[in-house]
Amino acid sequence: MAIDPNFDQNREQVGEENGVAVWGPVEPPEKLGIHGTHVAVDYDICLADGACLENCPVDVFTWVDTPDHPVSETKVEPTNEDQCIDCMLCVDICPVDAIDVDPGREGRN
Ligand code: SF4
Repeated sequence: MAIDPNFDQNREQVGEENGVAVWGPVEPPEKLGIHGTHVAVDYDICLADGACLENCPVDVFTWVDTPDHPVSETKVEPTNEDQCIDCMLCVDICPVDAIDVDPGREGRN
């Protein structure tokens, strides 16, 4: 299952963590929702592969701990999503399609 590219229409923004929007549903520790708006990471799909973080040319991502999440206990947070240059590398490289990038969503969080 890939991230829903229309999550901003299909989900509610339920808060903010590390400076990025969080889109529910969120029921920690099992369900953590989607983090970010322009650069969005589905935390319930992310398995902490790390290729996005290692290869992003402008260092958008940082690691965060997600203890007891059933898929992985760390995730990538798009803390610098405002720096994104829309190269789409992270979207293409993610092995589980957990990331969606859409500059049209910029500024909605
Ligand atoms: S699209 Fe490119 S610049 Fe933007 S977060 Fe992904 S890898 Fe980084």
